Amino acid sequence: MRVCEKAAEKNIGMLVDAEETWIQDPVDALVMLMMDSFNKENPIIYNTIQHYRHDRLMFLKDCIDAAKERNFILGVKLVRGAYMEKERKRAEEEGYASPIQPDKISSDRDFDAGVALCITNLDRVGLLVASHNEHSNMLAVEKLQQNNIPFNHPHVNFSQLYGMSDNITFNLAKAGCNVSKYLPFGPIEDVIPYLMRRAQENTSVKGQTGRELGLIEKELKRRRVAG
Ligand SMILES: Cc1cc2nc3c(=O)[nH]c(=O)nc-3n(C[C@H](O)[C@H](O)[C@H](O)COP(=O)(O)OP(=O)(O)OC[C@H]3O[C@@H](n4cnc5c(N)ncnc54)[C@H](O)[C@@H]3O)c2cc1C
Repeated sequence: MRVCEKAAEKNIGMLVDAEETWIQDPVDALVMLMMDSFNKENPIIYNTIQHYRHDRLMFLKDCIDAAKERNFILGVKLVRGAYMEKERKRAEEEGYASPIQPDKISSDRDFDAGVALCITNLDRVGLLVASHNEHSNMLAVEKLQQNNIPFNHPHVNFSQLYGMSDNITFNLAKAGCNVSKYLPFGPIEDVIPYLMRRAQENTSVKGQTGRELGLIEKELKRRRVAG
């Protein structure tokens, strides 16, 4: 509550990350309460919605309805989600239905639908598109264009993790979008395990590294030819 108050006083956005399903419900409830208090005029507090969960597009719709009904601006960071393997493993071990989408196409479909839904409700939504997926970032920009919304609309932000996908960050910035790098920081004993977890658990890191290596190789080849 005190952190939210300070963020509102300074007019600085505060993003709450999403974690594993088994700890997420109270986080969602708490963040909605904070938004109801602090997001009356601007999106200050943001929750995170993981579209690799099959129930989250509906949850996003419900959150937008709640914001309309209670007259606050919903702040949302949309991600695909980082704990897929862990979620599936626990569901299997404990014998409940997996909360994760059946395949990547379903996660992609819901992520892009979530972005589109937010963009068509920008009077009530502050959106942060948090992705390294070129196609999703492109779709978000096209959706802004189709709706005649300026790329630097104060309710639309993009972000990539620090050290990843600079090609996307730089191109979004060049096009005039609000874009940032997400930088984990803190005591070394907290940050190193976070980074290790990401490397181990997030299959997207492997895919992304491959995509970026390809781009670096292409650029090196171009420079050799140019030189
Ligand atoms: C700024 C920022 C903040 C972030 N904050 C959070 C956060 O708070 N909580 C969090 O969980 N993550 C967070 N992430 C991580 C984010 O979830 C990962 O970046 C994401 O998982 C990678 O997806 P992508 O959109 O970059 O694209 P891609 O690389 O296209 O997608 C990979 C993702 O797709 C999904 N996927 C892959 N295969 C399958 C499959 N077989 N079935 C179903 N789904 C599949 C998984 O989510 C996988 O990670 C954040 C990322 C950024 C950039």
